This record gives sequence, structure tokens and C-alpha cells, in this order.
Amino acid sequence: MLHTKQKVIIIGAGFGGISLAALLAKKGFEVHVYEKNNQIGGRARLIQENGYVFDMGPSWYMMPDVFEDFFNLLGEDIHEYLHLTRLSPSYRVFLKSEGQHYDFYSDREKNAELFDSIEPGSAKKLNEYLDESKRQYDIAKKEFMYKNYNSIFDFFNKRTMQEGRKLEIWNSMERIINRTFRSEILRKVMQFQMVLLGTAPKDAPGIYRLMNHVDFDLGVWYPDKGIYELPKAIATVAEKYGAHIHLNAPVKKIIVKDKKTTGIELESGEIVEADIVVSNADLHHTEHVLLDESLSDHSKTYWEKRKMAPSAFIMYLGVGKQFDSLTHHSLLFSEHWDSHFKEIFDSPEFPKDPSLYVCAPSKTDPSVAPAGKENLFVLVPIASGLEYSPEKLEEWSNTVLDLMEKHMGMDGLKNHIEYKKIYCVKDFEKDYNSYKGSALGLAHTLGQSAFWRPNNISKKVKDLYFVGANTNPGIGMPICVISAETAYKRIMNISDPEPLKEI
Ligand SMILES: Cc1cc2nc3c(=O)[nH]c(=O)nc-3n(C[C@H](O)[C@H](O)[C@H](O)COP(=O)(O)OP(=O)(O)OC[C@H]3O[C@@H](n4cnc5c(N)ncnc54)[C@H](O)[C@@H]3O)c2cc1C
Repeated sequence: MLHTKQKVIIIGAGFGGISLAALLAKKGFEVHVYEKNNQIGGRARLIQENGYVFDMGPSWYMMPDVFEDFFNLLGEDIHEYLHLTRLSPSYRVFLKSEGQHYDFYSDREKNAELFDSIEPGSAKKLNEYLDESKRQYDIAKKEFMYKNYNSIFDFFNKRTMQEGRKLEIWNSMERIINRTFRSEILRKVMQFQMVLLGTAPKDAPGIYRLMNHVDFDLGVWYPDKGIYELPKAIATVAEKYGAHIHLNAPVKKIIVKDKKTTGIELESGEIVEADIVVSNADLHHTEHVLLDESLSDHSKTYWEKRKMAPSAFIMYLGVGKQFDSLTHHSLLFSEHWDSHFKEIFDSPEFPKDPSLYVCAPSKTDPSVAPAGKENLFVLVPIASGLEYSPEKLEEWSNTVLDLMEKHMGMDGLKNHIEYKKIYCVKDFEKDYNSYKGSALGLAHTLGQSAFWRPNNISKKVKDLYFVGANTNPGIGMPICVISAETAYKRIMNISDPEPLKEI
């Protein structure tokens, strides 16, 4: 326990914020979380309308080991909070040209059969590839993911210098996968995980092949009642250990005196003092709105030059009919793979031939839709910062619904929609203060990963820290939970790179 109870303010109740609140509260700090919105969870909030319960953001529960370890670290058993189902198949992939679909599992035997049927001889390659991906996942967990970086030598240490060639840091995921598999469909299936990291496969460094182990070996899971149960469980643990979570409490400024933070000013005008402030809010917003320009570690030009992860065009659909063609997760891949990534990352425009993702949690969980109806979350990755009019969104909505009807076996879909909400770039800006309305934050290019990703400690303001997707290790629910552990290590001055065994 601490000798004197230090007070910590955390700005934002996203995964990073509430996970850090739980760790610090358990350690004995007095913790107050201030969240601008009326729910916890950050990008993982809920919409409840007409008997439908929509998870607003994340829908792929992956890396269950990370969540399990995190709850264990807090002295809790995650299974007392969540009932998890391993999805089988993990997802279904539809192809526009072939008019057929393929199911992928987290089961090596089933996938081997499928891979061989698509590309003879590829089952063996898949097994070898996944063995290597697993090895890299284990190295990453031990050496990179839970580590704080102080200098470039923390990245290029003895082990990475020895392993570096095999980790293929300088090679892109696109090249690694394309040299292993010849079939277009298999290449796309192995590459699409990079989009979850907010990066085009050609820009994702080889270290991210660990994502294929995450997908194909560790599996895709679902907590009963939906993803929101996860942040709810973390917040419950944080509150159990004494953290206070204040909703509808937007923060206006981080107060700094003599180069040390002394607390925050809320939009309401209230001043709250603290020994330590941690921001889980979008890092650009933290540095350029909550702080004075002169106290920010990264200039406006730095941010303008960053490669942002995509934003998203999302539709939450309540549909008065169930569609047998869908599984819990279904994907429709673009035929023009390279040019559609260009339209998302390099020369922003609405993709002419988009890829889409449809989540139908009502396939697994009847509690998220009225009986006999379907809860659909439809997502199309689009460029951050993309401009549009309300008319464009309606037009695009029709384009996407047409694609679903034509290529995903959902004939008559449009006639059965009884609830529809569109969510896009400007909503991310408004709801989360997200830079350029990115859905995810800084993309995981090599120049924006590990040592090169913004640090979780301010260089200019004492006792100011950062947590969440724009710091290390980066994007995704499990990864932001890990960011809480790395921020905790910073605050507690712990230099061990491995996951913590106790707090
Ligand atoms: C559409 C979508 C789909 C995704 N799919 C997946 C998936 O399937 N699986 C997965 O693992 N990950 C997924 N992700 C990524 C994952 O959701 C995020 O990486 C993660 O939730 C980010 O957490 P964070 O800690 O960075 O906080 P955020 O979620 O960014 O939360 C930050 C919080 O700070 C608050 N805030 C901002 N400014 C202020 C202020 N001035 N005062 C007070 N509060 C403020 C915001 O309101 C917000 O609640 C998805 C994300 C999106 C958007």
C-alpha cells in the first residue's frame, strides 16, 4: 500500500482509462475518472432502441488471454463477470466475383481442409506460418507489448537484434503473406486483420503477423449480452476498489503550474485538484485542446504528418427478419484490394468498390434483438477526415445495402429495416474528440509503433501521463487494457518489460 493516499484524475472512461482506474484503485490511490459522455466504455458504448441492443464500436473479442490475465492481476476471475462463447465459425467471407462464401475457424484441422481445397498444398504452409506467428506472439508478449520505451535501444535490444531478422520488422505483412499464399482469397483473409490495427497490409510491419495467431489459434469470442459487458465488468472492478467514475463531466483544461500538473478544470468551471493526471482522451485533443500548445510534446505539424487509422461508415440496423446467409461475423471483400486501400489511406474518397463487415450478434445471443429479428452492425472502413453531406451518407447507405442484398444473400433486406442509425467521421470527432474523426487513432505503421509511438509520459509536464490507443502498445480493446498496465508501470516506476504478476 502507499504511505500517503495520492489522488489521481483520469480523463476519459475508455478501455485505457477504466482499466488504469482499476489498477490504481486496487493499489490504494484515490482515483477519479471524468468522462464527457453519459456512458463508460469510450468507443465501446451502447445504443438501446426498440428492443435492439447495439454495441456501438468493437465486436471482435480477441486475445482472451490478455483479459483473463488482467482480471487475475486484479485478484478477480473474469468468468465471474462474463460468460464467453468461442464462435464457430469465427467468421464467414463472401466474395463478389465467385458468388459464394467460405467459413474460417479457430481450428487448425478445419482450416487446413479449407485452405487445401482453395489452394492445394496451402494447409502445410498455413501450419508452418501459424507456428511462427505463435512464436512471435509469445516473444511480443514477453518483450514488446507490456514494455515502456525510453530510448530506441529499448526496442533494438540484444534479443530483438538476434531475433530481428526472423521477426521481419522491415518487411511488410503484404509481402510476407503474398510470398506464402498464392490464392487471392487466402491472401485477403490473412491480411484483413491489419485493418483491425488500422493499417494497410502494405504498411504493416512483419511483427504484426502475430495477429494471424490471434485470429486462427486464439479464436474469436463473444460475451453474453454483448461487448459492452466487458467495459462494464472492468468499471465494476474499479468501483469495487474505490474508484469514482463521473459521467457527463467533460474536461476543459489540464491545469499546469511551474511545469507540474495540479489537476483539471471541468467544462462546468469546477476545478479539481490532484497529484497525478492521466489522459485517456484522444492524444491530439489532450495535447492541443486540454493543454497549452507550448506544453504539448507533439506539434500540430507532427499530427498533420501522421498516418491515421481509417474512420468508418457504420449503420446500426434493426431488421424484422433473420437472414440465414450470415454468421455472427461476416465479411465481404473488395475486388479491387489495392486501390480500395489507397482510397482509405492515401487519396481519401468513398471507396468505389468497398469491403464491408457485418456483425449479427443476434445469431449467437437472442437478448440483443426482439424475437425473430436481426441486430446488424454494418461497417465500411473509409478515410479519416473524409468530408460528406447528409445526402451523401444516405446515398452511400443505399450503395452498402445493395451490396449486402446482392452479395451476402440478403435479398429483400431494405424492405425489412425497422430501425436505422448512421454513424460516420463527424460523429467520431464530436463524441470522442477524435483527431480527423479516425475510428481507431494512429495507424500501426513501423514509424508509429513501439518506440516510435507517442510515449505515455509527458516530457514537459511533471505528473502527467497518457493511456489508450494512441500510446503504446496501440489499438484494440485488449491492447488498450495493456496500455493501462504500461501506464501503471510508468507511474509506479516499474521497468520490468514483462506482464505484471502482481500489483
Ligand atoms: C467502430 C469500431 C470498431 C472496433 N472494433 C474493434 C474490435 O472488434 N475489437 C477490438 O479489440 N477493438 C476494436 N476497436 C478498437 C477499440 O474499440 C479501441 O481501440 C479502444 O476501445 C480504444 O480505447 P481507449 O482507451 O483508447 O479509449 P477511447 O475509447 O478512445 O475512450 C476515450 C474516452 O475519453 C473521453 N473523452 C475525450 N475527450 C474528453 C474530455 N475532454 N473530457 C472527458 N472525457 C473525454 C471520450 O468520450 C471517451 O469515452 C473498434 C473501434 C471502433 C471505433
